[in-house]
Amino acid sequence: MECYSLKQSDVPALIDHLGAYGEVIAPHRKGDVSYSFEPVKDSEKVVLEYNRTLLPLKKCFLPPTEKLMDFSLKDMSYKPTEVPIKPAVYFGIHSYEMQSILRLDHSMLSGKAESNYFNRRKKSRFIGVSFSPDEYHFSESVGISIEEMEGFDLYLNKVSDDYQLYIISDKGKDLLKGFDKLIQAEPIHVEGREFNKKIRYHYNRLPRVFQYAYHSKVWAEVAERCVGCGSCNLTCPTCFCFDVNDQVEVTAEDGMRRRSWDSCMLSTFAEVAGGENFREHTLNRTRHRLYRKFKYITDEEGLPWCVGCGRCTAFCPADISMVDIINDLIREDEKAQFHKTVRV
Ligand code: SF4
Ligand code: SF4
Repeated sequence: MECYSLKQSDVPALIDHLGAYGEVIAPHRKGDVSYSFEPVKDSEKVVLEYNRTLLPLKKCFLPPTEKLMDFSLKDMSYKPTEVPIKPAVYFGIHSYEMQSILRLDHSMLSGKAESNYFNRRKKSRFIGVSFSPDEYHFSESVGISIEEMEGFDLYLNKVSDDYQLYIISDKGKDLLKGFDKLIQAEPIHVEGREFNKKIRYHYNRLPRVFQYAYHSKVWAEVAERCVGCGSCNLTCPTCFCFDVNDQVEVTAEDGMRRRSWDSCMLSTFAEVAGGENFREHTLNRTRHRLYRKFKYITDEEGLPWCVGCGRCTAFCPADISMVDIINDLIREDEKAQFHKTVRV
């Protein structure tokens, strides 16, 4: 893999250079403590040292709300919304965020591809950047290291005050054509970027823990604190559930259909006609959320459907921690195993 050194002061020039390929989307400061992925208008305003954005990069491929079609009841016709294929560069992306896009690809493109997502994804290029884990990140516990480069075209690793730039793909190499501020370098391994938050077991062992955790008392303890706001799903980069509704004009002749992100933690999510609700209680919804991340899809795909970004914990008003829940389940599982062994 080719490696170059890039001065921090030359990063804005690199961003401007990438703008020749297409729109560049990168992290920006929003308010005092928050960050957001936004189109770059001024490359000096891009922030590469950030912990996490409030909304995940998913918003660029699967927007929070989007119109799917216009329809007319006069002649029973409809016109689907066509999303144009546009080149875009996603710059300054953390490894867990990239992994969430790869998981979304699986959810949205397997079988018959979802066309809007596919068009937005088609000419996308990704430039990764390293990060220093804070008290919420735990991506290493789900198999994603800080320097995981899968999915990226280029990757920037912070070394002292500057960066090492790795060329990962031919597309990445093409992006750099004509950029003359790079100096060939030997890769340097960066020490000391430790994760503070950890799941106690390797993620391969978690489906087994979940197999026996369905009736755990941990769910009731968590449910008692949860206020059911749905923030954990709405900020999650791998959640992809949405609601679809139709809006009809007052003339009752024309209308439009749109979809919006939904959250399985909201009390109405599993409500059906007639008033039945399949997950009426917070306990059922909490348990379902974690089983979706560590059991149901994992059994089929062999990977956790959580990338350890820490958003669901960092933005939870009740301070409910994903890692603490799992470690509590592990502790309970160990106790049960111990009692079984003693009985034998
Ligand atoms: S963010 Fe926290 S309080 Fe809100 S639904 Fe999720 S777990 Fe419950
Ligand atoms: S479940 Fe939480 S930590 Fe895992 S990917 Fe979703 S928001 Fe991030």
